[in-house]
Amino acid sequence: MYDALVVGSGVSGLTNALLLAQAGQRVAVVERAQQCAPLLRGFERWGIQFDTGFHYAGALADGEGLQRFFNLLGLDRHVEIEPMRSSGFDRIITAAGFSYDFPVGGDEIVRSLSDKFPRERSAIRRFIDDTLQVSDHLPYINPTTPIDQLSAFDRAHDVSLTDYLAALTTNPMLRRLLSLHCLLHGIAPERVPFRFHASVIGPYFRSASTIVGGGLALANAFERCLNEAGVDLICDAEVEQILLSSNEGVEGVELSDGTVIHSQTVISTIHPHYTLNCLPDRVFRPIYRKRLSSLDESMSACVLFARCRQPLEVLRGRNLYLLSASATSPPIQQQHQQYGRGSVDEKLLYVTSANAASGSDCGGFMVIAPTTAAQFSQWCQSRLGQRPDSYNMYKQRISAQMIGQLEQSQPELIAAMDRCQLATPLTLRDYMFSPDGALYGVQHQVDQYPLQAITRIKGLYLSGQALIAPGVMGAMISGFSTCGTILGHDRLVGELKQCHQTIQ
Ligand SMILES: Cc1cc2nc3c(=O)[nH]c(=O)nc-3n(C[C@H](O)[C@H](O)[C@H](O)COP(=O)(O)OP(=O)(O)OC[C@H]3O[C@@H](n4cnc5c(N)ncnc54)[C@H](O)[C@@H]3O)c2cc1C
Repeated sequence: MYDALVVGSGVSGLTNALLLAQAGQRVAVVERAQQCAPLLRGFERWGIQFDTGFHYAGALADGEGLQRFFNLLGLDRHVEIEPMRSSGFDRIITAAGFSYDFPVGGDEIVRSLSDKFPRERSAIRRFIDDTLQVSDHLPYINPTTPIDQLSAFDRAHDVSLTDYLAALTTNPMLRRLLSLHCLLHGIAPERVPFRFHASVIGPYFRSASTIVGGGLALANAFERCLNEAGVDLICDAEVEQILLSSNEGVEGVELSDGTVIHSQTVISTIHPHYTLNCLPDRVFRPIYRKRLSSLDESMSACVLFARCRQPLEVLRGRNLYLLSASATSPPIQQQHQQYGRGSVDEKLLYVTSANAASGSDCGGFMVIAPTTAAQFSQWCQSRLGQRPDSYNMYKQRISAQMIGQLEQSQPELIAAMDRCQLATPLTLRDYMFSPDGALYGVQHQVDQYPLQAITRIKGLYLSGQALIAPGVMGAMISGFSTCGTILGHDRLVGELKQCHQTIQ
């Protein structure tokens, strides 16, 4: 019998587990994959370690909020944070030859962007100030912010990013540039509330860092901390049912092999649709079931994983956002029309480096092209390893298009590439167990009320990227928020404040 059982070992599940174990509870984490944190862990191929769920994050610099989380959970003892290039951690390049490097720091962005758009200085200043005003005061990330402002994350009635930018400037290029980071939450500019966008993006403007060894290093650090804290990690175990007692309180879970694990507290960090599937219909009101089951998915992507003959200097400490006109290539253009009206005229490719496995002198990179699962709907019944030839041929077409677009802008990447393989939304769906292969789970969109950690079932709590925000930071805040509901927010905030003092 456990005090608490966490379903899912992603960033949010592991954060919940560590916080509860640190509070003296006996905790187990149940994960359907073979190892914990499968999304963070990524995979190795051709001597290259490819990251899937983590490339870079904000707020990891000394004294910042995410670093404070790492400190409190003990992760900082096992990972090495590496700042990205402060002069430009994200390089934007358009087909027309426009190029801009996003530097670290609000004032630096205002200065360098104003050099590119001299008449827009006040609009740029306003955008940066508004963004940082939101992100500097996120609950838990900033321990002095009152917790009742947690709802600030979802701001159901906030204006969309598109409307916010329309009120700020008429310059289409500047609007497009300031919308590109939507890639980090997967919601189109016309659907994402401005304040939500600011919550996710602002921390990157303060500092942008990666972790030496990538997501795998973070997954391993979590695993070591779980061991140290005495948390039981049960992998290769899929929760099929959340079990209820006769008075409709939680009493544990049943796995797909029939094993029952008892606990009076269950925290579900899995996709809300799947949480619903684990419970009998009667337990939630129809309106709540409808709300959970009708949440829209964030964008998906085609992801090209490539190996190169040598490491690539252009990708050291920076990512590329490549925009090109979309006169040709219907498949990707079609995807963009579905992803968001703001991106109909241009195709976006995001390029980031991969880590060579130890002992290898090769390099590698990943290219993410936003898309939706609808483009692959004719093969949606197929599963990994059993796809028909027509799907494989279509994949080859998409790969060729992505390589062609990349070659126009970054010929040296393609010249150095010696192997590549494409993942589609169907690959992501089956690998991440995410409906439609959504990169970041459900959307947090304008006019949508936030999900709460507490449910009407005694002992059942929700957590995960669906609650607060996606990303390592959003998933960790959801862990603090859910455990705050269980243990008391003041207690966790107090511990973070103590960390704050120790760090300073
Ligand atoms: C391609 C890609 C790139 C990304 N890049 C970045 C980045 O650079 N920086 C950043 O901060 N974020 C990034 N993210 C986002 C980030 O990885 C996620 O937002 C975050 O990891 C989500 O954590 P989570 O715990 O909420 O969900 P998940 O990691 O999805 O955890 C849920 C877990 O539950 C398990 N599970 C599901 N159903 C069951 C069941 N029935 N029984 C048991 N276990 C179950 C799943 O296997 C999974 O491990 C990226 C995501 C993707 C897909």
